[in-house]
Amino acid sequence: MNSIINNARIVLVGTTHPGNIGAAARAMKTMSQDNLYLVNPKEFPSAVATARAAGADDILANASIHDDLKSAISDCELVITTSARTRSIPWPMVSPRECAEKVAKSNGGNVAIVFGRENSGLSNEEMELGNLVLQIPTNADYSSLNLASAVQIICYELFLKRNANEGVVKEDKVPLVSQEKIEMFYEHLEECMIEIGYHDVNYPRRLMHRMRRLFNRAQLDESEWKILRGFLAKIQEKQK
Ligand code: SAH
Repeated sequence: MNSIINNARIVLVGTTHPGNIGAAARAMKTMSQDNLYLVNPKEFPSAVATARAAGADDILANASIHDDLKSAISDCELVITTSARTRSIPWPMVSPRECAEKVAKSNGGNVAIVFGRENSGLSNEEMELGNLVLQIPTNADYSSLNLASAVQIICYELFLKRNANEGVVKEDKVPLVSQEKIEMFYEHLEECMIEIGYHDVNYPRRLMHRMRRLFNRAQLDESEWKILRGFLAKIQEKQK
């Protein structure tokens, strides 16, 4: 079972209670997910985390620890953030099942599913690093699951989908760009829009936020990324 490569990683950002890290590791292991990334955990390693992992401590031992979210996802071509609530500028939303479908279609490139802090979730800046937002359908009046419970539900859907996809051969396609390259594109885009007088940094109108939403939704592949970078460079050249 599960001979399909496991390209998904579970990223926990700023977890306050080490017990939740252990419980998330346990949730992952029951669903054959083993790539755990921790961004700035409040307390780790921790005996409490190991106790709550109940035999899934190998996942804790192999966890990759990072200082910020960007570095934990820089080599990912698809980043799915999670949220218990709907944000002010809506980002494209997926359910846990649709998320598993996206992961299955990702053709082997790295995928991150990002979870927030117990009391405050993910910041707006962190949400903007994602292509899609996953919301687990819940009681509208009480939508916030325990962190490890949210990890469990999403890993369960990944597990079902991976097993259903065993042996399915995928067609070749141009790989999607990494998060690191996408960031280079946003910097270039912003620079170019400022140079031609379209983007006024004193009156930003959430322009970059909207641009990020647009291009994250499109999920650029390598050749599209090259076209856009060349296009921006040409505009800058004409401007000078
Ligand atoms: N009060 C916080 C809730 C955080 S719950 C907030 O308003 O955002 C901790 C984390 O668990 C969330 O950041 C998210 O990663 C996950 N989570 C909890 N409930 C969820 C839900 N209904 N859908 C998706 N993720 C959820």
